Amino acid sequence: MSIINLAPDEVTIQIYCKACQSDIEITIPRAVVDNATSFPIAHLHLHGNPLHGLTLYIDRHYGVRGTELSEAVTIERQKEISPLTSLVLLRVPKRLKQTALAMLKLRQGSAIEVAIMTGKDPTVESQYLGQLWRMGYLIRTRVQQHYQYQIAQANP
Ligand SMILES: [Zn+2]
Repeated sequence: MSIINLAPDEVTIQIYCKACQSDIEITIPRAVVDNATSFPIAHLHLHGNPLHGLTLYIDRHYGVRGTELSEAVTIERQKEISPLTSLVLLRVPKRLKQTALAMLKLRQGSAIEVAIMTGKDPTVESQYLGQLWRMGYLIRTRVQQHYQYQIAQANP
């Protein structure tokens, strides 16, 4: 495990994934770590084919304290998909804009991570993410009892 890039806004971490049998690179906004109030934070990264999830437990210095692999994931996708972009953001209802903006930075994340970025309550972000998912802007993936949201892609 190592930090391979520490940019002003983002950190890129290289970590070994047992399912891929290779190192993968995970980029997250630094705000998710810098604004967190308890550590380690759990960041789930979905990737690969078949899709699987690797949860990273990250400390306040962006160090990875542990990982957990999840191979059983369920994708929940709306019929009408509208990939979220900076342009599409203009059409998003005002109350959902901060949540959508956080997702644009995160690319994939949980309500807890979005709440760290927006400073709102995770329960509120969970509702807002659900609304963005129903509008087709996000894809939702269930991993055990946990929802992970991703920016919808036009051609999956
Ligand atoms: Zn993997």
